[in-house]
Amino acid sequence: MTGRQLLLIRYGELGLKGKNKYKFINTLHNNMSRAVADLDETMVKNGWGRLWVETAQPQVAISRLQKVFGIYSLSPVLQVEKNIEDIAKAAYQTLITALPQGGSFKIETRRSDKTFPLTSPEISKEIASIIFSKLDDHYTADMHMPERVIWVEIRTKGAFVYGDLFQGAGGLPVGTGGKALLLLSGGIDSPVAGWHMLKRGVCLEAVHFHSFPFTGEQSKEKVITLCRLLSSWQGKSVKLHVVHFTEIQKSIHRECEEEYGITLMRRMMFRLAERLAKQRQALALVTGESVGQVASQTLESIATINNAVSIPVLRPLIGMDKADIIQIAQRIGSFETSILPYEDCCTIFLPPHPKIRPQISEAINQEQALDIKTLLAEALNKTETLNISI
Ligand code: ATP
Ligand code: MG
Repeated sequence: MTGRQLLLIRYGELGLKGKNKYKFINTLHNNMSRAVADLDETMVKNGWGRLWVETAQPQVAISRLQKVFGIYSLSPVLQVEKNIEDIAKAAYQTLITALPQGGSFKIETRRSDKTFPLTSPEISKEIASIIFSKLDDHYTADMHMPERVIWVEIRTKGAFVYGDLFQGAGGLPVGTGGKALLLLSGGIDSPVAGWHMLKRGVCLEAVHFHSFPFTGEQSKEKVITLCRLLSSWQGKSVKLHVVHFTEIQKSIHRECEEEYGITLMRRMMFRLAERLAKQRQALALVTGESVGQVASQTLESIATINNAVSIPVLRPLIGMDKADIIQIAQRIGSFETSILPYEDCCTIFLPPHPKIRPQISEAINQEQALDIKTLLAEALNKTETLNISI
């Protein structure tokens, strides 16, 4: 017996992907391998229609794997020979580890190997009777509301016994959904929007618009920290493009009507992001917008801003309440960083009365005063790209 633990990995939704299934499973396999690469005596195996991890560090491995999208749940399992005595021994061991002081339990058997001589209910019954002969009266059987279910799976290659089921992150493996460019501010919403896209298997690069010296080093550091958090969910480094936005903001402030400032600024952000996305072969932009949250997120604003680009703009938070977004931000670990009080470029030159229902025609009219082409080219020229890893 080695000191290694076997983990059974369940990948739910992947099972539905028909002939793409192998590509999805291979990507998941690679992503899992990367997540546990530095752990002792750890390897990911693909076999018997499942993914498995063998590891000498099960606790760390489980917590790492819980951030790998595509995994629905995972269980530490004992693999034994397919005979009732060995299965019962493993079930006993699993039970007393899970409930050392006693309690109620139930044995639940699944038999995919139909050549095994007993039916699933018969197997459960046999095992329970062997286990009970070794237990004291602190343990009881409960078929309806047991404190623990001990699962037994009889498969062609062996029998597997487990009593714990850890939730995975769900979703699809990162890398199976192409690449998008996330507009990452230092706020609460955009990291959560990025996380949702990662969850659907989309790989991310990020762009941040920085208005030095109006926004300082600290606000850039904050975005780098958020990127690091996203990279822990992406499973590999995130490229962060920092675009120097000051000249564009000054130009808008100088040349255009104040109440259209935010709309025009955001049209320029979208244009820059679209160009970067094309350079980086990203197929869509992602923002943290949600209808009605602020003046620039009314439907009129969204339409006017969106009109500046032709690339798809994905807004995974569009119908969510702020309170729900905050809850997710707390769960995924971005909230603490997002609420640090550093200036964002959107708060610079913020007009006292931003236009809540801007018109596309008026935005285009206002932009006549700007040398858009030169402003975009200069900002893109000064863009710095950082590789942010976990
Ligand atoms: P967030 O909490 O994500 O900052 P917000 O509620 O403050 O969002 P806005 O400031 O209107 O909303 O921004 C809407 C979206 O535009 C953001 O979610 C983000 O995707 C993008 N965005 C805003 N400011 C920036 C910036 N400085 N750099 C990159 N993207 C930005
Ligand atoms: Mg913001």
